Amino acid sequence: SDADTEETFDAGSLRTPIVAVLGHVDHGKTTLLDRIRGSAVQEGEAGAITQHIGATAVPLSTISEMAGALVDPTDFDLPGLLFIDTPGHHSFSTLRSRGGALADIAVLVVDVNDGFQPQTEEAINILKRTGTPFVVAANKVDTTPGWNPQNGQPIQQSLEQQSERATSRLNENLYELIGDLSDEGFSADFYWRVQDFQSNIGVVPLSAMTGEGIPDLLTVLMGLSQRYMKEEMSVDVAGPGVGTVLEVKDEQGFGATLDVVLYDGVVREGDTVVVGGRDEPIVTEVRALLQPRPNAEIRTEKRFERVEEVRAAAGVKIAAPDLDDAMSGAPVRVVRGDDVDAVTEEVRKELAKIEVDTTEDGVVVKADTLGSLEAMANALDEAEIPILRAEVGDVAPRDVTVAQTAKEDVHKVILGFNVDVLPDAEEALEHGDVRLFDDDVIYQLVEEYDEYVEELERAQQETVLDKITKPARFRILQDHTFRQNDPAVVGVEILSGTVQNNRPVAKFEGSEPNRVGTLSGIQHQGDDVESAQAGERVSVAIDGPTVGRQIEEGDELWVELPEKHAKILEQELASEIRADEIEALKAYLEKRRKADPFWGK
Ligand code: GDP
Repeated sequence: SDADTEETFDAGSLRTPIVAVLGHVDHGKTTLLDRIRGSAVQEGEAGAITQHIGATAVPLSTISEMAGALVDPTDFDLPGLLFIDTPGHHSFSTLRSRGGALADIAVLVVDVNDGFQPQTEEAINILKRTGTPFVVAANKVDTTPGWNPQNGQPIQQSLEQQSERATSRLNENLYELIGDLSDEGFSADFYWRVQDFQSNIGVVPLSAMTGEGIPDLLTVLMGLSQRYMKEEMSVDVAGPGVGTVLEVKDEQGFGATLDVVLYDGVVREGDTVVVGGRDEPIVTEVRALLQPRPNAEIRTEKRFERVEEVRAAAGVKIAAPDLDDAMSGAPVRVVRGDDVDAVTEEVRKELAKIEVDTTEDGVVVKADTLGSLEAMANALDEAEIPILRAEVGDVAPRDVTVAQTAKEDVHKVILGFNVDVLPDAEEALEHGDVRLFDDDVIYQLVEEYDEYVEELERAQQETVLDKITKPARFRILQDHTFRQNDPAVVGVEILSGTVQNNRPVAKFEGSEPNRVGTLSGIQHQGDDVESAQAGERVSVAIDGPTVGRQIEEGDELWVELPEKHAKILEQELASEIRADEIEALKAYLEKRRKADPFWGK
């Protein structure tokens, strides 16, 4: 029962839940995060919020102060909330902890006027897939016509100050939103009506701009965590730290550093840590733990202050030697005692889970985090695009060299997801024949590449088509013999296909084509031409035969197809040639296959 669980948890041993903000572009994610930081600061209390590296901590005391009557702080023993500063589902889905999403809980921001949009759906799918509990922030209530803003107030208090018209306008939008959520399979309601947040989604009307409703949002997040995530939050807060790398950054005076979200335990200066690296886990020692200096000056050397230890959940910058090969999205683990090997093995295992299948010929993939690399690999697998090499990091000259070794032209390609191109690589790309595609939307990247492949194939087929002999069937017209022989010149009508100059001409005796000669000229209305198409009447010169002996007026003649050409035409170029050319090809094949069923196969 609840009472039992309550007793087994010691208030001091619960960590802060990690909160992520997701939603469609322009629906107000950034404004919401800014507002949470800003309004907490406005509460005036020193230390009301703490700016971490990549995250913002809002302690319980601040939440209860902002929320006023909504929150009785004695109801809670979780220390507060830690908001990840980079909103959006890219960072959400690519930053992970051992168990799944790095964030424990999410805020899905939806513009009340705009409702569900493509990225709202995408975010919902990711939340479903990762099983992350979430609340919906129905943002921008202040844009309701006739709205009377109540800065920073709980939403019920604000609603009391609104006209009936404004309230009903807002409600219309909110019910639509609740309907959209139910279409996605969620039963949702205004958060104050929700009893069981595990089976219902709470909708919090708010304005990131005016701050009304934000106390409610914080309260709901707090309540939800307290009620349903206490078990996950009860970690060994004094145990060895575990975290995820947000970013690898060069800092003046420190070299490569790690921005880390610590979700478990504690990390101290001097600790040995194991970090996921490009080739191998990196074992190193923490030189310094850095936090942003409050009211930091912009000058680099003053931006950070050193701290001796950091407890989960927190964002922190770790300075240590040998971090150049560390990867965003990789695990970081503190080693306590002497089990370096065991911890290294654990990190290696976590990395192995994300290992991408590569083949001998394929494209080179670069992505910004391990999680996004995995997502790319999945998308490419689905699109049946083979991968030669897949790595986290910006596009470097080495990648161009590797792509260059791909066997097929369509594989001499780098697909970069959310990465930069280093200047040296830019130069290498300009000089070689490796193509780079970069985008920050996976499916667009795959689409762009697919289009390129099609284009390349079309170009290749066109060159093949230029060289290939096309099928043609034509008839010598009555009374159109202009010259008997050397060469024979006759008027013909092309029945199907394309007659090209300089091709051998045959006449079928049963299924055997008997060569009668070679075309040495085509004239259309007095002009020399290189080819003639179905429906046209032209005069042709044929070297070899004599009219009245090997050929006669009224004869049906064929351009003789080399077997290899017939095969390529039938198997690869069928979609590239005209219907009447296909007809001529089919008729030709039918004749030949009467004698040899495998001819041209
Ligand atoms: P994001 O792309 O989801 O991070 O959206 P932003 O936070 O950048 O917001 C997009 C635009 O909507 C900006 O112009 C914001 O000022 C505006 N905006 C965000 N929240 C609100 C709100 O609650 N009310 C109003 N009136 N405007 C808002």
